[in-house]
Formats: sequence, structure tokens, C-alpha cells
Amino acid sequence: MIDILRKLIERTSAKLMRRFCGRTFACPVCHLVLAAIDANGNGLLVCPVCGAVLEIEDVYGHIVPVVLDMELHRPQPKARLHPLATHLPIGLFPFALLGAAVLLLASVLAGTGIGVTLAGAVQGAPVLADAVLVLLVVSVGSALATFASGLWDWSFRYRRRPYWQIRLKIAFSAAFLALGGLAIALHAAGLVFAAGSGLMELGSPLGVLAGLLYLGALSVGMVVLATLGHVGGTLVFGR
Ligand SMILES: [Zn+2]
Repeated sequence: MIDILRKLIERTSAKLMRRFCGRTFACPVCHLVLAAIDANGNGLLVCPVCGAVLEIEDVYGHIVPVVLDMELHRPQPKARLHPLATHLPIGLFPFALLGAAVLLLASVLAGTGIGVTLAGAVQGAPVLADAVLVLLVVSVGSALATFASGLWDWSFRYRRRPYWQIRLKIAFSAAFLALGGLAIALHAAGLVFAAGSGLMELGSPLGVLAGLLYLGALSVGMVVLATLGHVGGTLVFGR
């Protein structure tokens, strides 16, 4: 089952890579996946991980990267502010999602009457709902600082060189902030969890719609965040 899922993810990401990044090849030194469109007008690019200065040759339709030189001052961001700052949003967001999932379960159980037998758990719902909001605000708020530190690193350490990894990270960071912002707005406006009970109002169409939007934003946000972490990790540790 896990193998099938992994193959499906690999095939989908390979298709998306081809669509958005064009032809790719592996750095001959560190094996990081690089995109041919990131080379400059002379067909040159520098690997962001190992600092290999590469010239791309097109040989019978195959991309052949030739190592011309090794850059001594590599921008590899070990022990820098950005990779450290990523831990706060990545560490807290999954707990917000977990809390929201528990509240959904409690809301469904309360709706069926089973919740009455779990009175203790249902009584704790308002506190849990508040905790989820705090986790979301800290996670998405700190993601703003993480995004800014990443842009800083790209501007100064990577000298604003084009890399598909950086383009993806900027787009996904903006998507994460938008999804997180939407979830916080829905939660803080009291549209998702009722003020008194702390549970979702699954009886009303508006409550169901707000709940679906909220859980959808959190779930997609989690996938976006995991992708950001994975791609960022390849820039720190290579492939
Ligand atoms: Zn490399």
C-alpha cells in the first residue's frame, strides 16, 4: 500500500516537474535535480548544494552536464536562520490539524448522541478549539518570518540565481500563508466552532460549509508545508 502510494507520488511529481521545469538532469557531483531552464544564456549554472559550475551540452537529445569548476563559497544553508526558523511552523501546524480532526470527531459523536457518553471529551472542546487557534496563529505567523528569512538567503547567499527549487518554495510559501490565513480568519470569526460548545455546527449548511473549507485549508496546507520542507531539505543535505 505504501509502495503504491509512493510510486503514485513519484509519478505525479515527475509529471509536474516536466510541466513546470522542462528538462531536468542530475548534478554530476551531488546528484541534486537541476532544471535546464535555470542555465544562463551561455548554458552555465552553479549547483546550489555542491557549488559545481556546470556547462550544459545537448548531445543527441540528452543533457550532458560538464563540470567546469567548483565554487568555493557555497551557499549551502547549514546552521543558518532560515532552516532553523522552518522548525516552528513545521513543528506546530500538524498539531493544529490533529486538534481540528479531534474536534471534528467530537462534533460528529456529539451529533449522534454518543458524545453524551464522552461528556468529558466534549466539555474540553472549547479549550481545545482555543489551543488550535493559538497553534495556527503561532505557526502561520512564524511562517511569515521563515518566508522572509528564506527570501533573504536567496537574495544574498544564492545571489538571486534562478533555481526551480526556489521558485517552487516561493509559490508554495505564498500558498501556505494564504491557506493558513483563511483557516485563522474562519476560526477567529467563530464560523467553524460554536462559541459555547467549541464544536462544529454540523446541523446547519453554513456550519458544514465553513467546516469543510477550514479542514480543506488545513489539509492542503499540510501537504504544501511537507513539500516545502522536503524541497528545502534537498537544498541543505543534497539528494
Ligand atoms: Zn551539485
